[in-house]
Amino acid sequence: MNAHDSDRMEEVLRAHGWTMGEAASECDLVVLNTCSVREKAEQKLRSEVGKLAPLKAKNPEMVIAVAGCVAQQEGEKLLARVAHLDLVIGPDNIAELPALVNEQQGGAPPRARTVFDVDAPRFLAAAPRAGEAPVSAFVTTMKGCDERCSFCIVPYTRGPERYRPSDEIVTEIARWVEAGAREVTLLGQTVDSYRDAALPPPESDDPDESQFPHLLRAIAERVPGLRRLRYTSPHPRHATASLARAHAELDVLAEHVHMPVQSGSDRILKRMIRRYTRAEYTERVRRLMASRPGMTISTDIIVGFPGETEDEFAATLELVRDIGFVGVFGFKYSPRPFTPALKLVDDVGEEAKSERLARLFEVSEAQIRAHLASLVGTRQRVLVEGPSKAGAALVEGRTRRNEIVHLEAPEGRAVVGAVVEVDVVRANKHSLVGTITSEAAAALPPADDRSRYGPRRKRALPLAG
Ligand code: SAM
Repeated sequence: MNAHDSDRMEEVLRAHGWTMGEAASECDLVVLNTCSVREKAEQKLRSEVGKLAPLKAKNPEMVIAVAGCVAQQEGEKLLARVAHLDLVIGPDNIAELPALVNEQQGGAPPRARTVFDVDAPRFLAAAPRAGEAPVSAFVTTMKGCDERCSFCIVPYTRGPERYRPSDEIVTEIARWVEAGAREVTLLGQTVDSYRDAALPPPESDDPDESQFPHLLRAIAERVPGLRRLRYTSPHPRHATASLARAHAELDVLAEHVHMPVQSGSDRILKRMIRRYTRAEYTERVRRLMASRPGMTISTDIIVGFPGETEDEFAATLELVRDIGFVGVFGFKYSPRPFTPALKLVDDVGEEAKSERLARLFEVSEAQIRAHLASLVGTRQRVLVEGPSKAGAALVEGRTRRNEIVHLEAPEGRAVVGAVVEVDVVRANKHSLVGTITSEAAAALPPADDRSRYGPRRKRALPLAG
């Protein structure tokens, strides 16, 4: 979501004549985009602004801005606390960035602008430039969050849920595909709570039933050139039977879902105000897994939530094994401002939190290794995204289930952006190594000198621990 916001900031600034610099030392404006889901991000912000201070001393015209959730959370207070800061700008005020920077350059006093657009929500449409589109693009479907998970700061930094009209979403996806993107990931804090009066009504009277499956169908029907569709993050509450049906029916939907569970203990889930039990989560995820052969699930887990006993943590480990997650993002509980969990005593010590996180990763890493090893010797369809970090002559892509695959680029052929058949020959810790089949290589168009794709975005890897 932050990477996506950074792209929108770049676009609004470009539209006002700004260009991207290589290093902060040569820039007139530095925007630090922030996340406040866990405490570390805030500490990082302080040290980054500190690093910019000497540059600003050399170039007093330099404007330093902080955007994102820390900006929203702290507002004016941040200006008072951080000496060299000129601008604090919330996620809903991105469109105002060029004008606010202009003011600063004209000598205005430091300013904080952090107003939610609740009454007239505005979604900045991406403006893909042909020749610069990534193979895989993000598209916003909603902003904010109406859940009140007791640990989570998001409702306070991103505001209430507001949905982007489905027509806008479909149009933006079509534009991305026209510019060269092959895969789209729909973004939303609870992406599967989606609603839009322009779509058919929800498929049942269940209050957790949303119109998200209808949105998926509209995209599949109206953007036939899209090769793969993903979404993140869904809330288990809305993973109803109709979502599983959409997976069964729509070939464009990838066979992987990231479904945050947070804990395997019913008592902790209740304290977290997650609004589902372990049995309900299991039932919903199993239904999704049954919707398509080979469907895999990854998840988020918080360890050391207030009051979590050793037995309750053991229940989480048992759930990780039971579901067979092939990716786990694990976090130590971090108390956040405004959140209801602040009323609970943060009584699991730092050492116990670290030890539980290490045990969680031990189990999840073993599962990932076993899963990747089971794919050696199979043939997979890989969407090639760009050069591989693993070697100069290599490219990398992803299977439909989101496993990363490194492969040798066939000489003289345009492979980036293509879906190719690959024989998997080896498994690394978090990725696969494969060989493109000779038929697939022969079917690729000849490479011309210029790639039609822009740089790949840094993305969170679902297989990372
Ligand atoms: N919408 C997602 C959901 O269903 O909860 C969550 C998105 S949140 C931005 C990403 C993850 O950060 C959460 O799933 C949770 O595991 C973790 N997280 C959020 N608040 C946290 C906190 N106070 N301490 C530790 N981890 C936290």
